[in-house]
Amino acid sequence: MMYYSFRDDDMQGKIIKGIAGFYYVHAGSKVYECKAKGVFRNHGVKPLVGDDVDFEVVDDGKSIGNLTRICPRKSKLIRPAVANVDAVLLVSSIAMPQPVSLMLDKCLISFMMQNVPVAILWNKTDLEADESIIEIYEKAGFETLRVSAISKAGMPKLYEFLQGKTTVLAGASGVGKSSLTNLLCRRAEMETGNLSKKIERGRHTTRHSELFAVNRQSYICDTPGFTFVCIDALKKEELKHFYPEFYDCEGECRFHGCMHVREPDCAVKKQVGSTIAKIRYENYVKLYQEIENARRY
Ligand code: GDP
Ligand code: ZN
Repeated sequence: MMYYSFRDDDMQGKIIKGIAGFYYVHAGSKVYECKAKGVFRNHGVKPLVGDDVDFEVVDDGKSIGNLTRICPRKSKLIRPAVANVDAVLLVSSIAMPQPVSLMLDKCLISFMMQNVPVAILWNKTDLEADESIIEIYEKAGFETLRVSAISKAGMPKLYEFLQGKTTVLAGASGVGKSSLTNLLCRRAEMETGNLSKKIERGRHTTRHSELFAVNRQSYICDTPGFTFVCIDALKKEELKHFYPEFYDCEGECRFHGCMHVREPDCAVKKQVGSTIAKIRYENYVKLYQEIENARRY
């Protein structure tokens, strides 16, 4: 637990970025560069992007301050390391690049394992594409948004989703995360789709997470590629819990504890092609075998 003196003249804000011992705190319409003094180190507490903090202003003109208190965290995401995340939006493009449903599944599972609500944001709806994949994930039970960063279709719904939340934008490179961040946060000042960013991201494989303010209550966090997706801790017996469309029928499998892979009279297998999409079931089996093979050695 954290016990720091609360002082009336301190300001409140949110850490949006941390670089080399400096914490950038968004407060009102300004960003203050703050240091974390000894009191944090003594308590073994490391401020995190997303933390709500109190700070004292050292120089208002230069926007410099010192952190004085970290508010209790509602939650802490490990991958990416961000505090107080309310939701994850898995961004995928309906085309260019083509969605890869196995990667989508892995990414969804990786966030579900961290107990954070996850929804899917389909971008590039201005392009001609086979949209059946959208329905597949909708039918599986995932909340869905459709937008185009180019035509701006669907943006009001997206604003509505983001309102009052800190939302992580996850997704493969090239799906339009930077374009959307630029649209949502006028001062995000990120480059989109150009070489310098790709080089930078290649060079620093662990780019730090950064929050961008949509407004005073809403933040988004753009994450680099799929680098954080990790389901290594998942046991094969647990995998089925991350396929919500299995829940309805799996009680009817002949064997209690059926894994829906090799067992006879499996109710899940019977539903493949009707309430369970073929591609989702195939992904499930692939991931099940992947976990099985990884554990063998
Ligand atoms: P990121 O790697 O996820 O950050 O993707 P970027 O925002 O850099 O976008 C990658 C490319 O897709 C750029 O050339 C963008 O102009 C383009 N792009 C982004 N959003 C859309 C969209 O909604 N429709 C179309 N047609 N292109 C888009
Ligand atoms: Zn079964």
